[in-house]
Amino acid sequence: MAVPCVRVRPEDGEATRRRLAADDLVDDEYAITASDGWLYIPVTDADAVPGEFDVVEFDAPERRTPTNPADVLGFEPTYERLGDVVILDEDDPERAQRIADAILESDVRAESVVNRASKVKGTERVRDWDVLAGDGTEAVHREYGCEFELDLATVYFSPRLATERHRVVEQVEREGEHVFDMFAGVGPYAVPMAKAGAEVVATDINEDAIAYLERNAERNGVADRITAIVGDVRNVVSGSSREQSERDGVRDVASEYENWADRIVMNLPHTADEFLDTAVALAGDDCVIHLYDFEHEDDPYGPAEAAIRAAAEPEYDVEIETRRTVRSYAPHELNVVVDARLTRR
Ligand code: SAM
Repeated sequence: MAVPCVRVRPEDGEATRRRLAADDLVDDEYAITASDGWLYIPVTDADAVPGEFDVVEFDAPERRTPTNPADVLGFEPTYERLGDVVILDEDDPERAQRIADAILESDVRAESVVNRASKVKGTERVRDWDVLAGDGTEAVHREYGCEFELDLATVYFSPRLATERHRVVEQVEREGEHVFDMFAGVGPYAVPMAKAGAEVVATDINEDAIAYLERNAERNGVADRITAIVGDVRNVVSGSSREQSERDGVRDVASEYENWADRIVMNLPHTADEFLDTAVALAGDDCVIHLYDFEHEDDPYGPAEAAIRAAAEPEYDVEIETRRTVRSYAPHELNVVVDARLTRR
């Protein structure tokens, strides 16, 4: 059926579509169509179209509702989901915006679309985001039966590590097992481990992360099994003497948690080895440490193993139970995990 359309050259198509869309003039009932070297953009009100554009009658087909972004884009975009937030990793801002628009136009469930704007950085491992559509970076993510509320703009979180987290969570052996999560974030280890019966102490230097962790503990019905503490785990545990801690107002839980842990999660891959002395102070007589690391593919596990032995021996026997590559992190660099059992001699 002939409908009013703005006729432009294809190279001007996207810019024109956006200008018309900004004035709410694009008629979504009909498809934007290429024909004879022109692009025809159906419009809702020919009289409202700015004079610089050429309006013609054109037989545009009715638009079928796109079911996925590829229908709109003509290529398959790559994206991840975190609850109702769709996450892109695009270097070209224009391409990112096109993908975001296509996602919103399609059947993909999305409250907002965000693009990674920096690497994770600083002590708190948080990155910058460009919000391309919708209004936010807050999400509720579901993973292996647990729900996690979080704000990507203020805390670290990666949905990609779900399988690895589950592997570790499944190792909780018994009701009341003592787990210490040294770099806990919003609780993706702490919460399911508590659900599996563990008594968990979780520390993080980022107070927003701990606030979310406490909310997530409530949300998943395990608040009574998790003690959440804000601070540098070294100070929180035993870096400072009790007198010093009392003077500084830092909570010193050394007496409570030294020699306490049956299991310790150390998920701070860049620098976790700097915290192994703290981990050994926390370890009970028989304790498994899950140590994450970034290493070169030529020797992915050697440095982590050597660091654990240097910190724990000769007080403990060290047995490496698992060596695992979690994912490739950068060219020739791997994100690995070593599960080490420490048994007091
Ligand atoms: N385990 C969480 C997860 O899987 O989502 C978070 C991991 S994130 C890579 C590392 C976390 O360690 C961040 O939330 C950061 O704030 C925290 N962190 C960094 N240095 C710390 C320190 N000295 N003491 C306690 N937490 C620290």
